Amino acid sequence: MNEISRRAVLACFAALPTRTLAQGSRLSCMASFSILADFARRIGGDRVDVAALVAPGNDAHVYNPTPDDARRLGAARLIVVNGLGFEGWIERLLKASGAKAPVVVASAGVKPLRGSGHIDPHAWQSIDNVKIYIANIRDGLLKADPDGAEIYRANAAAYIAGLDLLEKEIRAAVESIPREKRRIITTHDAFGYFGATYGFSFIAPKGVSTETEPSAADVAKIIRQIRAEKIPAVFLENVSDPRLMQRIAAETGAKLGGTLFSDSLSPAGGPAVTYVEMVRNNLRELGAALGR
Ligand SMILES: [Zn+2]
Repeated sequence: MNEISRRAVLACFAALPTRTLAQGSRLSCMASFSILADFARRIGGDRVDVAALVAPGNDAHVYNPTPDDARRLGAARLIVVNGLGFEGWIERLLKASGAKAPVVVASAGVKPLRGSGHIDPHAWQSIDNVKIYIANIRDGLLKADPDGAEIYRANAAAYIAGLDLLEKEIRAAVESIPREKRRIITTHDAFGYFGATYGFSFIAPKGVSTETEPSAADVAKIIRQIRAEKIPAVFLENVSDPRLMQRIAAETGAKLGGTLFSDSLSPAGGPAVTYVEMVRNNLRELGAALGR
């Protein structure tokens, strides 16, 4: 297990012995965005080279694929996508790339929620769903590289055990926020699964995608709602322009919280280089703005 995995998997799990394979013999895996790439790295360990099409910090909803992306997909031996309509551009790109590699739909088997009339693709915001993602990615790796089966199974089991601890952290963090404060505004509707699972309400001027700009009427409605329901805080998002939220906070007097990571990890050196760090960052920000 490499150093990044060691930091991510919770400290109670001993590192599993893996052989370090030469660069050329590793399985090349392309994930559509950074959160899936992190999952694939945790399970693949040293046997797999993982890269993401949409780099950390960028918004996958509105991504414009490049010719180089088609080349990278064409060269991959395993492709991992979210599904649920998250990557509206992926079908065309797959076709253009001529990719022959199997495509793992990480969300397959998740019970989809709907938000603002559309399927909500942000299923990774609930730990039970992430366990499904991990199982799907593990099975994709097993099929693509049966020689690594033992390692993939062990890494996935260790990661899932770590997720159980992370879920306890989430529940404790939510518990520490007074019930009447568990209502916040975010730029787009990215936390529906988190809200439904852990008891929190997230209200957003944009829908489940960032593709459309909210109308003046949408923003006015949110401002009325914040005032009427005394919603305590407005949060920024790492993939969205902060100005709309800054304006809403200024007009309503709601507290301006920190930055939540919704659809992307942070670039190296940031506070959310892995999924586990992303969840912990979000819990810290929620606690700092809303906690007792
Ligand atoms: Zn989103």
